[in-house]
Amino acid sequence: MNKNLYRIGWRLPVLLVLLLLAALVVRVPAVYGGPSDEPGPVVYFGSGGQESVSGSLHALEFAGDLYLVDVGSFIGGDGRNYPWPAEVDPAALRGVFITHAHADHLGRLPLLLHEGYRGPIYMSRVTYAIARLTLPANLQYADLGPERFYYSRHNQGRERIPVHLEGSEGGAASVQPANRVYFSASRPELSARGYYLARPVREKLAADLLERIAEQVVIVDPGQVLELASAGLRASFIATSHIPGSVMVRFDYQGFTVLFSGDVGGDSSPLLPANPRLEQPIDILFLEGTYAYGQRADLARERERFRREVAELVTAGKRVVIPAFVLDRSQQVMFEISRAIGEGRLPPAQTVRVCSPAARQLLRLYADMAADYRRDRTLAAYFSPAMAGADFLPPGYIARCSGDRPANPLGLEPGEIGIMSSGMADYAAARQALLDYLEDPQTVFYFVGYQAPGSLGGRLTATPPPASLRIGDQQRRVRAEIRQTAAFASHADPAEMLRIFAGTTPERIFLVHLDKDRGPGLAARYRQELGAEVIIPRPGQRYRLR
Ligand SMILES: [Zn+2]
Repeated sequence: MNKNLYRIGWRLPVLLVLLLLAALVVRVPAVYGGPSDEPGPVVYFGSGGQESVSGSLHALEFAGDLYLVDVGSFIGGDGRNYPWPAEVDPAALRGVFITHAHADHLGRLPLLLHEGYRGPIYMSRVTYAIARLTLPANLQYADLGPERFYYSRHNQGRERIPVHLEGSEGGAASVQPANRVYFSASRPELSARGYYLARPVREKLAADLLERIAEQVVIVDPGQVLELASAGLRASFIATSHIPGSVMVRFDYQGFTVLFSGDVGGDSSPLLPANPRLEQPIDILFLEGTYAYGQRADLARERERFRREVAELVTAGKRVVIPAFVLDRSQQVMFEISRAIGEGRLPPAQTVRVCSPAARQLLRLYADMAADYRRDRTLAAYFSPAMAGADFLPPGYIARCSGDRPANPLGLEPGEIGIMSSGMADYAAARQALLDYLEDPQTVFYFVGYQAPGSLGGRLTATPPPASLRIGDQQRRVRAEIRQTAAFASHADPAEMLRIFAGTTPERIFLVHLDKDRGPGLAARYRQELGAEVIIPRPGQRYRLR
């Protein structure tokens, strides 16, 4: 009996231990090897904004779940906007993040929606407000591939022919089926072929697009933490000083952190919040490298010089033409003109003509946000307190650019200021101003942004300046004065980037949104000063981040 008890006595604990071990063996895969708990792989690839400064489109896979940061369009010769990149399946996408409203960061959104994407589009509330104004204007140039258009045979022979889009009912009733002349083209080709989208078609396309986006947009404010559909994945925004609404996007995934800088401002705008100084460990940092050159001048002093010079020129009876980008640059210029009025440098009713319908719409949006600044507390995340008193519609603002005299079609008189799209004077009113005023010594062209070497603005601001300029098929002598300022620079220089990101101690940095030739020098600098591995990703190539 004693012996039996003894036997059971040692067998029972052994049996229990064996059972426990067996249980552990069964449990082990569930605890350590199961798909839900093993740290998921993170993969990056891009289809724009790699070795180029436009077309930003960055894809991240978290354990196979696909997300995009930005869906920008290519500008100039940087790349093709159509077709949609084959490696990014719209049906497999779980979410799209937009860092800011510049076209090179969201211009391919209409194409993505056209390809059938129905999921969430995350952006800041100010980016959304701006995009609602700028995306419809971009629609006529959005490349959705070849589409079928038609026009009325009664319009044949006109210099520019209004066209309708097959399948879109906008204005279709105005052209009888028997009178329709069909052709196939992409939207960007229309203008070169002498066509333009008829107004009802533009309005219908814009209304459809805005309705779609309204259904899919998810507003995220800086500081808010977003729980995404993929297990253990969170995202948040950090405001930057690039343009109103611009943000960085931070992903936190099972203890692993990826940060996209988006475009980072040079802290030049008194209206925007100062750049942050990030003190948070980041594993992988995607950094924009647009401004890879030396150190910037004192931008506040440059702005002061701009106000003084514009006031002096106007007082001297000069006609001041300011070619400016529609989004943010035109509004910043108007803000500085208002400041000059406030400082007594310009008369209160100084005439300022704004020659761009889109710039005028954005001026009104900025004016609304300035008026709402004290009431709407969410705006404090996107603007500095200077926004509260900012004046974007001074008393002398005129939303008309047509003169009574044939010799002066734009109507800009000596002593007046004209803010005119486009920023490099290649299109629209600024180009017309070159044709009308370049031979006039009473006119000053004041460039306020980067000028690509091949653009009309780039050729005019070259050293030495040209004696004459070819504009399309016309030639003009350069009699007007040409000036330029960097006061409105909207990208941080490398020194400012280091101040922002030194506290993030990244293991690896991916340099994106940069000029291919400037990449290696910039990479060497960040490698040395941040002690991180620096990679310049190639378009389409896959990189395992974890
Ligand atoms: Zn930008």
